[in-house]
Amino acid sequence: MLPERILNIALDTPLDTCFDYRWQGEEGAAVPQPGQLVLVPFARREAVGLVVAVKEETDVPPEKLKDVLEVRAQLTPLSPEWIALCRFAAEYYQRPIGEVALPGLPKNLRIPKTVALDRALKKFAKAEPGHDPAPRDMPPLNPAQQEAADAIAGASGFAPKLLYGVTGSGKTEVYLQAAAQVLMRAAERGEPAQVLILIPEINLTPQLEGNVRARFPGVQVATLHSGLAEGERMSHWLEAHTGRAAIVLGTRLAILASLPHLKLIIIDEEHDPSYKQQEGLRYSARDLAVWRARQLGIPVVLGSATPSLETWYHAQSGRYRKLTLRERAVRDAVLPKVRLVDMERDKPGEGLTSSLVSAVKRRLEAGEQSLLFLNRRGYAPVLSCDACGWISNCTRCTAFMVLHKPEHRLRCHHCSLELRIPRSCPTCGNIDLQPLGRGTQRIEEGLQHIFPQARVMRIDADSTRLKGSAQAAFDSVHRGDVDILIGTQMVAKGHDFRRLTLVGVLNPDTALFSHDYRASERLFAQLMQVAGRAGRTAQKEGGNASEVLIQTRYPQHPLYGAVMAHDYDRFAAGLLEEREQAGLPPFIFQALLRAEARELQTALDFLQHAATCLEYPGITIHDPIPMTLTRVANVERAQLLIESPSRPALQHFLKAWMAELRATKTRAKWSLEVDPVDI
Ligand code: ADP
Ligand code: ZN
Ligand code: ZN
Repeated sequence: MLPERILNIALDTPLDTCFDYRWQGEEGAAVPQPGQLVLVPFARREAVGLVVAVKEETDVPPEKLKDVLEVRAQLTPLSPEWIALCRFAAEYYQRPIGEVALPGLPKNLRIPKTVALDRALKKFAKAEPGHDPAPRDMPPLNPAQQEAADAIAGASGFAPKLLYGVTGSGKTEVYLQAAAQVLMRAAERGEPAQVLILIPEINLTPQLEGNVRARFPGVQVATLHSGLAEGERMSHWLEAHTGRAAIVLGTRLAILASLPHLKLIIIDEEHDPSYKQQEGLRYSARDLAVWRARQLGIPVVLGSATPSLETWYHAQSGRYRKLTLRERAVRDAVLPKVRLVDMERDKPGEGLTSSLVSAVKRRLEAGEQSLLFLNRRGYAPVLSCDACGWISNCTRCTAFMVLHKPEHRLRCHHCSLELRIPRSCPTCGNIDLQPLGRGTQRIEEGLQHIFPQARVMRIDADSTRLKGSAQAAFDSVHRGDVDILIGTQMVAKGHDFRRLTLVGVLNPDTALFSHDYRASERLFAQLMQVAGRAGRTAQKEGGNASEVLIQTRYPQHPLYGAVMAHDYDRFAAGLLEEREQAGLPPFIFQALLRAEARELQTALDFLQHAATCLEYPGITIHDPIPMTLTRVANVERAQLLIESPSRPALQHFLKAWMAELRATKTRAKWSLEVDPVDI
């Protein structure tokens, strides 16, 4: 008799089930295993699925049971641990497992044709992998760094660590040292090993990748991020999946990579909001990393100068061990002095106070670099008419269209609608339209006026649209071809700018009064991060000490006081107390149900139904409300917040609730986010 099995297969569909198919092989054929990819007929097309279980029987009647078309036997099966990770993520975030497992795979693995896969495997078979993990040119660590690296790498079993180190304290060296120890020890035992390093920003990959490759010339290093071309993505993924890559560097999506020999996970800048995926499977790469480390019984390290309150809370309670680096690693490099500039007294012209202008001037004269940070791109957030009060509202969103002067456009940053800049007011014909407020483009223009001789460069999402242009821009900053850098959060994170001695923060106040309770935590982290770009090398003989100037209308605000004192501990303690009193995370667990529709009422009606369809002990369901940015691209949006002091209770509720909601007829489109970060 020919071998026959029932394969339970996960497909990338919004349906919360896996499907049974029949597999029938030739005589003596190897039986498929869980973790293999297969091609099956599905809804009048062919789809690639993941085998999650192999069985003898099924409830599907024989006449309905379809046959597997093809088993991708050329690819090593994905491991049971990897499937378990996908299963956990699917259950925790309330999505079907196929929607977790499949979209994370390279596209060439998910298409019916295998030409690209076979070609990649062939090329791959020829390449000789390196396997000498001995590191090169490792600088001697200072005692605090050494202690941290030893503690991370020396741990056995699941051992979460918070590496709490001020900006410039040399956290990267600790990661590299810990990685080296883990890889070397495995090599001594003759075992394969892999280290995963997660970073928040795609733009930080080249800096770290260069570093890692130079230090580990004898092993394969693979990168995984959304900027890779399809072919690269495929070969890098294969390097990780086959275990050839000993070190994998990546952005959040890399946490779902197949890493069969994973022995250490490092999450750099763990507080960074970009670890949270904001669409589709709304996962936190940081949380999944900790879960994955626990599952595998391996060490995991979360690094930050300004840890997220969740992580800080775990470190305070002893669940995570805290390793502290109090000082900058480079000899004589000190944290910059932070000064506040009161904008009520020192009124800014061109967005810059006279104090900041003279500080920039001093740096120019000394041949040092300045960085001005403004988290708002474009020229001006609004264009307006003084005569009749017209303002550049987006016709499709509850938002303004932003003036982009170099591009001669008004652009909506939410729906990407673009218009030519009107020559005159669309309502009254007035030709004197006024830009209101300032974005990076306008500051750049102002700087060129004030400092005509200076080399000014702007780095933001607009200036770096072309592939490779961000890297080119950062390279020219590192080479010293730039005197004044103006940029958004793109420039605030992680970069090791050696020539930079002054940071100016232009307009941080809006975040002080945000309705989002996380806004102050984020602002604090952002200010500490951007401040941390200054003074990363020793002060020159007789040179100016590095400094940070923050322009504000609220110089008395305690948040700025904490920034001036570089005092995260106190700030975090205060915030945790507030959160505990207000019953906010990390003292409570949340989920957010969002609904959108052409009519706001449709969305609200659905949420109202959702709010009342299921009662559950220990769960608080708030009232449905329109989102702050209610309309985007002509779609009205509303949300409903769910809370519980118990994570298991919340999880149980969500499971039952999702079943109810999936069975509900509505014209609204809806989605659920567990542990939301933007409320
Ligand atoms: P962080 O990530 O903590 O902000 P980095 O890892 O970027 O800090 O290190 C800051 C600077 O200190 C880098 O230029 C790095 O080369 C340097 N550095 C790190 N460790 C040492 C050390 N032990 N001795 C000398 N310089 C070091
Ligand atoms: Zn007008
Ligand atoms: Zn719009």
